[in-house]
Amino acid sequence: MPLNSDPNCIFCKIVAGQIPSTQVHRDESVMAFNDIRPLAPTHILVIPLEHVTFVNQTRAEDEKLIGHMVRVGGSVAQKAGIEKSGYRISINQGRDAGQELDHLHLHVLGGRPLGRSA
Ligand code: 5GP
Ligand code: ZN
Repeated sequence: MPLNSDPNCIFCKIVAGQIPSTQVHRDESVMAFNDIRPLAPTHILVIPLEHVTFVNQTRAEDEKLIGHMVRVGGSVAQKAGIEKSGYRISINQGRDAGQELDHLHLHVLGGRPLGRSA
């Protein structure tokens, strides 16, 4: 397991291969895999390999990682063939956003018109 892993975290278990996932990208700092309950034809999650938690708890030194996550989001959207039709990248934070898991993750959603709602 990489540094800053939480043994009780579902996404840390996915990183470690203890929970299976449909991986679409992995490199030295992030991985991306299909959401188990997709909200759109393409619904990919991009996560850091390390257990980084909430946006407000990130540090200045995490900026490179967070920027990389966004770029990987664009790359997996391209691989999924939705680059031209469009896609949304979002981060849910806290109760009002419906956040379920505290391991930082980007949602990459597309493959249908998404409308203006969250
Ligand atoms: P949140 O609501 O925290 O932003 O998003 C968590 C996402 O993780 C949800 O969309 C949920 O469907 C997804 N998820 C939860 N457990 C698993 C799992 O075991 N495997 C995968 N692939 N996705 C999961
Ligand atoms: Zn974690």
